[in-house]
Amino acid sequence: MKDALTNLRQRARADFRLGVYLAFAALALGLVLPLAFVRFAQGAPLHGALNLAVVAFIVGCTTVALRGGNLDRLGVVASIGTVVGGCAAAAVSTSGALWLYPIILAIAVLVGPAVSLSLCLAAVVFLWIEGAAQAAGDPLALSASLASTGIFAAVFARHAGRRRALLEQMATVDPLTGAENRRALEVEIAIAIAGFRRDGRPIALAVTDLDHFKRVNDRHGHEVGDRVLQDFVRLVQSSVRRTDRLFRYGGEEFVLLMPGTDELGLELAMSHLRSQVRDGLRAAGDSVTVSIGAAVLAPGEDRDAWFGRADHALYRAKDGGRNRLVIDAPGR
Ligand code: GH3
Ligand code: MG
Ligand code: MG
Repeated sequence: MKDALTNLRQRARADFRLGVYLAFAALALGLVLPLAFVRFAQGAPLHGALNLAVVAFIVGCTTVALRGGNLDRLGVVASIGTVVGGCAAAAVSTSGALWLYPIILAIAVLVGPAVSLSLCLAAVVFLWIEGAAQAAGDPLALSASLASTGIFAAVFARHAGRRRALLEQMATVDPLTGAENRRALEVEIAIAIAGFRRDGRPIALAVTDLDHFKRVNDRHGHEVGDRVLQDFVRLVQSSVRRTDRLFRYGGEEFVLLMPGTDELGLELAMSHLRSQVRDGLRAAGDSVTVSIGAAVLAPGEDRDAWFGRADHALYRAKDGGRNRLVIDAPGR
């Protein structure tokens, strides 16, 4: 139970939208549900039934979100549903339109500004056509304040979204080379191993290390060394498949993760890469070579064992004289 809660908190922290669903569900169960019973007790069954329907809808959406449903698609459904609920509340009681304010704030996080602003506009149009806006007393003020809420919410949500994307990029991308970093690698390795256990699709990992890179720096300076690292990343990315991903593990050491690659494919891809680097990578005219150790994930293997096999293969490539590819085969 404690683990489940911690897990939930982490997921909500990682995706703000999940936090909005949880808040939605808490408000639905804590506020709207008791209100439904009050309405029934007051002899307003239509009102009470509407409250119950809104609670059921929100709890349903939150359950889908918690079960890992597609949050982009769910966002549109949840936004339309809650705005319809808010409009219905406005239609059944004059103060019902007040529900539209928190709803408009919340949906700005769940969907993009185009959808949230369109829904806000649709709600205002509905209030006028249905007569709820006029019934509320000052239809112009109601419409203007709803529209302003929608615009502010969209501006804040967009700003927060951009910040999040920037932070995510800073946390996962190596600024020098643009390759993904070690933190991203660990996440992707875990996903890859889980995928392999699920569907058995082969996946390969290669650890690459530039040869005598210290010499490059000593001879030509760090600036040239930095440029060689950038050229290496460009070269690898143009040489491997689009689904292959390159990570900077540290210094002049990079890791390639290759989904759908078996031992034969690994041999072909990596010997091609090795010769591409030998022929194409230069430090002020001097050729730079790479040593590669690689391994295909074996059944039942964990991250450390898999990575360890590729890393040992790299040592063998270095010991064998560098500018070499060594593929570790289990049991070989
Ligand atoms: P080996 O063939 O055994 O791999 O020899 P090496 O010289 O490449 O290995 P070593 O690990 O001794 O040296 C790695 C060098 O990489 C040392 C370090 O100065 C350099 N290096 C690490 N990160 C960077 C970087 O971001 N920029 C530059 N220019 N050099 C870096
Ligand atoms: Mg090296
Ligand atoms: Mg090294």
